[in-house]
Amino acid sequence: MNTRRQQILGALEIPIWVLRGNEPVPASPADPAGHVPLAAPSQRTQDEPVRAQEAGAAQAGMPRLAGLDWDSLAHAVSACTRCGLCKSRKQTVFAAGHPGASWMVVGEAPGAEEDQHGEPFVGQAGKLLDNMLRSVGAARGHNVLIANVLKCRPPGNRNPEAAEVAACSPYLLRQIELAQPGFLLLMGKFAASTLLGSEGSIASLRGRTHQVEVAGRQIPAVVTYHPAYLLRQPEEKAKAWADLKLALRTAQP
Ligand code: SF4
Repeated sequence: MNTRRQQILGALEIPIWVLRGNEPVPASPADPAGHVPLAAPSQRTQDEPVRAQEAGAAQAGMPRLAGLDWDSLAHAVSACTRCGLCKSRKQTVFAAGHPGASWMVVGEAPGAEEDQHGEPFVGQAGKLLDNMLRSVGAARGHNVLIANVLKCRPPGNRNPEAAEVAACSPYLLRQIELAQPGFLLLMGKFAASTLLGSEGSIASLRGRTHQVEVAGRQIPAVVTYHPAYLLRQPEEKAKAWADLKLALRTAQP
């Protein structure tokens, strides 16, 4: 294993696997920047496309979003009262980064710190996400756009409720439509279930490339664990690293 690769895995706090007999695991070829090269297209595994609008994004009663640009959409979100979370939020959390980024990371919902700062993925989970992105040559606000399924914090960081996801997901879909990312990294169960329309576990959804259709456009997507989960279950970080390598084989950030 080369030094650069060891540094990346160290930054992610991922244990370096060693084969029985203490033989180092052969490192896959990496370029000088530590990027894993693209695999041949024939090596990719793709599911049938999923029309995200039909996968749990209830549109009934939604204000018309089709004509809204990015700033108008952010304004609409900031004034939104479509579900009860508007009552307990300090502020809405719209996104970090800008349309046109090649990758879009989709998480679950703001936590206490995000509610405080108005930015997704801050605190320890945000730091881990930034390290993960850095290890593959990506950075929030540069070539990565970050958003959550819910724009308001569920009290006590409880799981989002189905009605809240249904109320809020049209905003996410419009964000994706406007941002036109080349790739979606779906972090955690709620991002995956909202955009893939699957109630499968992360374990059953990761390890392959999905296709998400938004506004008639198909976008490749990879499912991985949410950084907050990885902080609680550090032994799963090696799987997240494998997911990042799959993401790199799917689309360069
Ligand atoms: S979570 Fe979404 S739908 Fe609910 S109030 Fe906030 S912005 Fe509106």
